[in-house]
Amino acid sequence: MTLARGATIGIVGGGQLGRMLAIAAARLGFRTCVLDPAENCPAAQTCNEHIAAAYDDMTALAQLARRCDAITYEFENIALGAARWLEKNAVLRPGATALETAQDRLIEKTFLNANGIPTVGFRDVADAASLADALAAFGGRGILKTRRLGYDGKGQIRFRGAAGDPSPEEALGEIGHAPAILEAFAPFEGEISVIVTRGGDGTTVCYEPARNVHAEGILSTSTVPAGIAEPVGEQAVRTAAKLADALSYVGTLGLELFVMADGTLRANEFAPRVHNSGHWTEAACAVSQFEQHIRAVAGWPLGAPDRHSDCVMENLIGDDIGRMPELARAPNVVLHDYGKAESRPGRKMGHFTRLRPRLG
Ligand code: ADP
Ligand code: MG
Repeated sequence: MTLARGATIGIVGGGQLGRMLAIAAARLGFRTCVLDPAENCPAAQTCNEHIAAAYDDMTALAQLARRCDAITYEFENIALGAARWLEKNAVLRPGATALETAQDRLIEKTFLNANGIPTVGFRDVADAASLADALAAFGGRGILKTRRLGYDGKGQIRFRGAAGDPSPEEALGEIGHAPAILEAFAPFEGEISVIVTRGGDGTTVCYEPARNVHAEGILSTSTVPAGIAEPVGEQAVRTAAKLADALSYVGTLGLELFVMADGTLRANEFAPRVHNSGHWTEAACAVSQFEQHIRAVAGWPLGAPDRHSDCVMENLIGDDIGRMPELARAPNVVLHDYGKAESRPGRKMGHFTRLRPRLG
């Protein structure tokens, strides 16, 4: 199915990712209709229509299905039932299976391993006894993560294998006894991510890996080139393409990977959507991850992932958004303000990408 000029693309979720998807869609001649409960969500300012209702509101979902020629999503925590309903009653790209796989860290990591993509070791944690067993297996060190709904480092408890670590009971109490996994601690050399888009015809297009630095669990910067020795970068790209194929995916996804000291890779997690660590593509590539996603959703040919510049993307978190006027004075900086009325600590308010002529 190919969308024609003027067709309407539905976007479930109206955060900054939805906002940037709507802008990309508008540039290609599509209309957008966003479903998000917040009246003043970032995408409300850039879409054609906004349905302000809960994500599981059946009337709203039916309205979205009726109004849109194809529907996509910008965050992975939509109720699976809603996604399955949209898949049955409309054109949903990517499909609900990618969502189901990425929503739950246990299913996600099991799926990655089953498809020959290595991760760090992990164990299912159902209660204090299984957490104690898992900790013993990992030498007392590891990261307890809720299976669902974690983001920006939330829902994670670290065990350092030292005095001061919480007891298994305390740790489970801190995450509200939610179903969880324990992951072995990965002494990585660095973190990278690959943004891949898979078209409806099965073609995959991968951007070059970015090197990511997090601060307090939140992405701080993405740098390209990532400065990793080959063949690690090529292998990361092949892994992302393999994942997109394994999911029969249509659209853009982001795969996060740890680079170990010996040059091997461990997949950390993937997001079935455009990804913060791919925002640099908006500035340094002719076709961004957002446009690539819209092209895939629309059944259009994908663009080349080539990069014309070296770049560093930096997130503007909380009051950092006050840096915009100063950043606007710098040459070769691509700015993006998400239009959020209220700045809060830890809230992603915008980002910028500093471009430098490409070396090599
Ligand atoms: P989120 O969904 O919050 O992004 P992640 O699993 O990506 O959750 O964890 C956030 C960050 O915590 C990672 O980017 C990485 O820096 C660190 N981290 C996560 N898992 C591990 C691990 N097993 N070993 C070492 N560091 C980790
Ligand atoms: Mg992450």
